[in-house]
Amino acid sequence: MKIAIIGGGAAGMATTYLLNKQHEISVFEKQPILGGNIRTLNRNVMDTGLDPALVLDCGVIEFQRDNFPYFHKLMRALNVSVEEGRTSSELFLADGQSFKSGTGIVHDCNSIGERLHEIRKILPIVGGYLKFLLRSWLVTQEQLYDQPMSHFLNQGLHALWLKMLLMYAYSMPYQSINNFPAEIGLPMLRQSDMFTKWDRITGGVYSYIEKILEQFQGQIYCGVNIQSITRDATGVKISLDSGETFYFDKIVFAVTPEQVLTLLSDAREDEQRRFGAWKLNEIETVIHTDVSFYKHFGVTYYSEFDVFQNNRLGSCGYNAYLNRFYRIDPEQYHHYSLAYNLGKLINPTKILHAQKHQTPFYSVEAVRYRHEIIANNGENNTYHAGAYLGNGLHEGAIASAYAVAELLCTPTH
Ligand SMILES: Cc1cc2nc3c(=O)[nH]c(=O)nc-3n(C[C@H](O)[C@H](O)[C@H](O)COP(=O)(O)OP(=O)(O)OC[C@H]3O[C@@H](n4cnc5c(N)ncnc54)[C@H](O)[C@@H]3O)c2cc1C
Repeated sequence: MKIAIIGGGAAGMATTYLLNKQHEISVFEKQPILGGNIRTLNRNVMDTGLDPALVLDCGVIEFQRDNFPYFHKLMRALNVSVEEGRTSSELFLADGQSFKSGTGIVHDCNSIGERLHEIRKILPIVGGYLKFLLRSWLVTQEQLYDQPMSHFLNQGLHALWLKMLLMYAYSMPYQSINNFPAEIGLPMLRQSDMFTKWDRITGGVYSYIEKILEQFQGQIYCGVNIQSITRDATGVKISLDSGETFYFDKIVFAVTPEQVLTLLSDAREDEQRRFGAWKLNEIETVIHTDVSFYKHFGVTYYSEFDVFQNNRLGSCGYNAYLNRFYRIDPEQYHHYSLAYNLGKLINPTKILHAQKHQTPFYSVEAVRYRHEIIANNGENNTYHAGAYLGNGLHEGAIASAYAVAELLCTPTH
């Protein structure tokens, strides 16, 4: 069959790989490069001034070892090597206080005295966290439907910290986390404790897209503007702004979900209901070499889950220190970090690269009809893939690709 895949991010490219052997695939990507939120400096993002010997990710960086089965299945199939990255986290408050996570206390303290001091500081937070964990284990997935995270995280420093981790994981503005869907956020927090192992891809995340491209036999159209998509009983018609027209048997939407109704000229009522509440979340991350803002907190080591309260009005951001995660020696190179929404904390002259990202704006209203989208995959020659149909992270993107492949491919064994 001739199949069009709209969107060349993780979900689109994983679907491309899985369908490639049995079908004739064409990928349509609106950006000039593939990858979506996979932005690897010196791989798919070039000319940034970064030392050519280094590869750094300015978007997706890490993957859970134990809770990302589809992601790891794909990496094994592609023969892509993943390795454990050292992780820990610290909470930095606007008033100058800071708190280390359990892993931080175990690995990042220089003496027993310092460890005891950090444990004493964190004790009041641990109580609230354990209560949250207990509550999270007592609810069923069904009970989380239509529930905002504010029902589970309300007052207290543990709530602030966990909401910041959701901000970090989903690149969502901190203020919006109260209405973040609990059906996605709660399982993610439950699976992310001090024992969770996080992996990175050797050579940067874009390496696995390169492996997919090595085997790919179809067509890739980057930098295209789709004017309209229409469907009838015989197939799908795609018209580009350039005037070109393409015909396919099936179409897979692997775009951010708010795009679906913009692209479809013949959206039906049920499709309008399913996609109508989705909005776009546009953010910017930067790769920078500034660690001076840590001095304000008296901290001389940095971790890759560091979350910062910029001011008491609720502006928060993160700094992911990449040297530790990627094992880059700061004596030989610089200190490199990936940051979001740290504003004036970072010296602008220390920014190597600024990257715009587009992600789904997660809200209780937006995710309400996800189960309908998944259940009706294939209707009207139309399929949907994307992280937003799963856990909102890479596992969700890859799992959704496997789900589409299961519907469109004949088992070969
Ligand atoms: C800064 C950042 C860091 C992240 N870090 C992690 C991480 O470390 N681990 C993790 O698991 N997850 C992380 N995520 C979540 C990440 O979004 C998912 O893991 C995953 O990459 C999403 O893949 P996707 O294919 O669903 O969406 P996307 O990557 O958004 O891909 C959608 C693609 O569709 C294209 N597109 C959109 N509209 C059109 C159109 N009209 N026509 C054609 N093409 C279109 C887009 O340009 C894009 O390439 C991060 C997200 C961000 C923003």
